[in-house]
Amino acid sequence: MTVTTVPFTDLGAMADEVWPDLAGPIATAVSTADFIGGSAVERFEEEWARYCGVAHGVGVANGTDALHLTLRALGVGPGDEVVVPASTFVATAEAVVLAGASPRFADVDPRTLLMTPDSVEAAITPRTQGVIVVHLYGQPADMDELGRAVRRRGLFLLEDAAQAHGARWGDRPVGSFGDAACFSFYPSKNLGAFGDGGAVVTGDANIARRVRSLGDHGRPVGAHHGHLVVGTTSRLDSLQARVLSAKLRRLPAWTEARRQVAARYQEGLGDLPGLELLDVHPSAHHVYHLFVVRVPKRDRLRAELALQGVQTGIHYPLACHQEFAFSPFASDRLPDAEAAASEVLSLPLYPHMAPAQVDRVIDLIRSILTERVGAGASIH
Ligand SMILES: *Cc1c(COP(=O)(O)O)cnc(C)c1O
Repeated sequence: MTVTTVPFTDLGAMADEVWPDLAGPIATAVSTADFIGGSAVERFEEEWARYCGVAHGVGVANGTDALHLTLRALGVGPGDEVVVPASTFVATAEAVVLAGASPRFADVDPRTLLMTPDSVEAAITPRTQGVIVVHLYGQPADMDELGRAVRRRGLFLLEDAAQAHGARWGDRPVGSFGDAACFSFYPSKNLGAFGDGGAVVTGDANIARRVRSLGDHGRPVGAHHGHLVVGTTSRLDSLQARVLSAKLRRLPAWTEARRQVAARYQEGLGDLPGLELLDVHPSAHHVYHLFVVRVPKRDRLRAELALQGVQTGIHYPLACHQEFAFSPFASDRLPDAEAAASEVLSLPLYPHMAPAQVDRVIDLIRSILTERVGAGASIH
């Protein structure tokens, strides 16, 4: 019996596509020792800010630093609280703790796994300074309603757009709604470096300047000596900036390919009992960092898919407040985020995925969930 394997992702296919554009510039950078700062970094920072529809972009070492340094630039510190969604990667809450403050976890809408104005309101206390909204899996949160709720309270709004490069709410790109927005260029993100990387984008020149200074040992921007605050070292290096500029040219096509895979899954799985698709808001231009479905018998489906050579993921098996590290900050039960954590399953999705591979995943899921799987392939 031949088993056609379907990997969860294929980062090599994206790297192969850009490598012809990169081999020359990377060789030049190496032979001229152009590693930190310089024109390649400045060029990518400008390109990325323009792509996000804002004036300023600052490269940093990774997405967690982008969040942590922006929180510090916004003045967050000990005694403060920042609202974050319970359904997210831990880095969102981690950054709040790194800034010396406490995360307050908000529940999510069970149909989108995104924060809602009501769930944010429920998490706000007199110590709350701001809200980090996460555009989870590539779908922007409701920036009209949520934006209004946050502004009405006089709080800052920070976008964690680490999973949503190029997503739009209405006709505006994510990254242009908050006081600032943070991106990760971890290799598996929709725009991924050949290593770690991150960026902060903002329309506010003061926030941009403070983030840049904090990531450069607290030096005033443009100066070499004189350290006014205790900073750290967190920079996007120039080799990664070259990779990101080359990949950015392909990002619109790769995003469209992701959306086509997602549409095929929606078509093939939409009516299937035992599996629920997440809702997509009509104003949301979703970029499908992940294609996540809810399946009550998730672990069984996942094991049977693995037997057939189909790799899946779980994002995330626990809601953030249920993780041991964050137990000091977990006050209330958050039933919707907790229930989702036991049901979410991420299906294979990447720009170079062939339609036949998508169909194989769909066919296997349909036969497993309707118990028509071949003899010997089923776990009970
Ligand atoms: C990946 C990710 C981050 C952190 O990015 P790193 O570059 O890995 O530090 C933050 N928030 C979310 C939602 C992420 O998915």
